[in-house]
Amino acid sequence: KIEVKQLRKSYGSNEVLKGLDLTVQDNEVVVMIGPSGSGKSTFLRTLNKLEEPTSGQIVVDGHDLNDPKVNMNKVREKIGMVFQHFNLFNNLTVGENVMLSPVQLGKVNKQEAEFLARGLLKEVGLEDKFDAKPQSLSGGQKQRVAIARTLAMKPDMILFDEPTSALDPEMVGDVLEVMRNLAKEGMTMIVVTHEMGFAKEVADRVIFMADGHIMEEGKPEEIFNNPQNPRTKEFLNKVL
Ligand code: ATP
Ligand code: MG
Repeated sequence: KIEVKQLRKSYGSNEVLKGLDLTVQDNEVVVMIGPSGSGKSTFLRTLNKLEEPTSGQIVVDGHDLNDPKVNMNKVREKIGMVFQHFNLFNNLTVGENVMLSPVQLGKVNKQEAEFLARGLLKEVGLEDKFDAKPQSLSGGQKQRVAIARTLAMKPDMILFDEPTSALDPEMVGDVLEVMRNLAKEGMTMIVVTHEMGFAKEVADRVIFMADGHIMEEGKPEEIFNNPQNPRTKEFLNKVL
């Protein structure tokens, strides 16, 4: 569970997050939508302190991240992140990419890591790519490797920042399918995406963000069929 209270973030005089409150329960899938520049990526990055918030509180499973005694590395291990660009290591094989962090952090030995990686690659439909180099994969396959790599850390929660927006249209479905399966298995997820079909089908809750504020939130059918805020209506008219 993650609780965010009055979260603010400024870059110089530019306030990008203007006091966000949000609680995400275990097993919940929250989809975040909103115009470019509204602060969606910044919000995700502050949740695991890739960005330092200017003020406010983030509590992850009861641990207040403002508490200097909290081990941020441990928190980061529990909050996986999947980006638009997958950042795989091209000099390593697919399997090695997936095995890397758990081995480096001493979570598992090489043999266990390989077993884990093969299982995860199977889960994302790439069991035959263990020895392949990332360059030989399509964008959609790379993104599925990136998801497997994140899962190898056994996160409690995964933050997705537009995981399909850099992909050719025909690759999008396979990645969304993997995410849909994760949701079914009960993974807690916050997903920033423009895939409204995915949001309708998979989200427990949809959040509309604009100008650094959460403008509106609700069940997908509420947000998509009966938006209340004029900004939400305007945005949905553009994207639907
Ligand atoms: P998009 O849909 O285009 O990805 P977004 O909602 O993710 O947009 P952010 O990337 O969070 O928006 O950016 C919000 C605002 O913060 C923008 O005005 C951006 O220019 C600014 N910003 C983001 N990162 C930085 C940074 N490192 N330094 C300065 N300004 C930044
Ligand atoms: Mg963004």
